[in-house]
Amino acid sequence: MYEFGQAEIDAVVRTLQRKKLFRYLEGEKGEADQFEEECSHKFEVAHTLLVSSGTAGLICGLAAMGIGPGDEVIIPGYTYVATALAPLAVGAVPVLCEINDSLTLDPAALEQTIGPKTRAVIPVHMHGFPCDMQAISAIAKHHQIFVLEDACQAIGGKYQGKCLGTLGDMGIFSFHQNKILTAGEGGAILTNNRTLYERAFIQHDGTCDDGSCCRDFAEPLFAGWAFRASELSAAILRVQLRRLDAILEDFAATKARVTDRLSHGSCDTPIPCYDPDGECGTHAAYQFATPAEAQAFCQCASRTGLYAVHPGTSKYNYIYWNVLSLRRGALHPLRDPFRNTERTYDHTTCPRTLDLLSRTALLACTWHAQGEALEKFVECLAQARQEAHV
Ligand SMILES: *Cc1c(COP(=O)(O)O)cnc(C)c1O
Repeated sequence: MYEFGQAEIDAVVRTLQRKKLFRYLEGEKGEADQFEEECSHKFEVAHTLLVSSGTAGLICGLAAMGIGPGDEVIIPGYTYVATALAPLAVGAVPVLCEINDSLTLDPAALEQTIGPKTRAVIPVHMHGFPCDMQAISAIAKHHQIFVLEDACQAIGGKYQGKCLGTLGDMGIFSFHQNKILTAGEGGAILTNNRTLYERAFIQHDGTCDDGSCCRDFAEPLFAGWAFRASELSAAILRVQLRRLDAILEDFAATKARVTDRLSHGSCDTPIPCYDPDGECGTHAAYQFATPAEAQAFCQCASRTGLYAVHPGTSKYNYIYWNVLSLRRGALHPLRDPFRNTERTYDHTTCPRTLDLLSRTALLACTWHAQGEALEKFVECLAQARQEAHV
């Protein structure tokens, strides 16, 4: 979460006073309808669908692509576990792929990971760092697989001038508490493909069975779920969306100060980025020669009141996703996608990713990372380095 103010409070109160909290009531356009229009306009995409979470968005996206039992979906070994849960939810098997120094999917590894059962790839713009979408799109096109962009951490980011989340067949945002824009919970599906939009819509609201909310659809009905968002979330998100540019400017300014302070006499290497101008600026990421140096970086952060991530031991590292290591894809054995595959998920699956993550550290570029706290952090780093060299 970045900022909430009076405008969000007013929007919630106004929505409550209107007494229309469910979005699909007959009548004038509601908050959710308007948010979707504003979102499509802001990110220059034909269709936006507001859903209940980023995970729900990923699930509906894969379902709309017609992915299910017998299929495989390639995901990076460094992302939030939700990226792995989505294929499992539609009955497909998640297949892990190595990342590279950018902390995003390695295109060369993707090419090698694609097999006869691969139907889609989910590139993840981790920490707002854009994936190599040009290479990934070319590989996907060549192998005729779908691209579902996980832009949950990358709202407002760009790649070659285009908004992250609009470069693949579909893209997903999350509005969870920790994301760039938030309503506590929420998600959005973005796409330029009308067919995929209609299918995702039907999937996200099975109760439109009578055709009332999708009567102008060309796609035939099928049984869906209930991943709808409420008018209250939409009201908050409309305000949040208007704050986006200012939020990103603040991140960029803080990151510029952080990287400037850390560039003097430091031995850490900033990670390479596929679009330094388009990345979101939420984190400054560094690669070190040893895991101990990355850990020392994070210890200094916590000692001085800053927030740092050590991906080697973070929940974003696939080695900590228990449902994969335990191969428990569903409670019901016949619904478990792992019953039809020998795949295992351990230290041998993506060794390069694990090595890289153990030597990486990220500093969150929130308002904490400023002024005196930042100076104390820089001092702490210098001292840690000195101690390491005696
Ligand atoms: C947060 C996140 C998700 C899931 O979003 P929720 O809204 O929490 O369901 C998926 N992928 C990534 C990379 C995320 O950071």
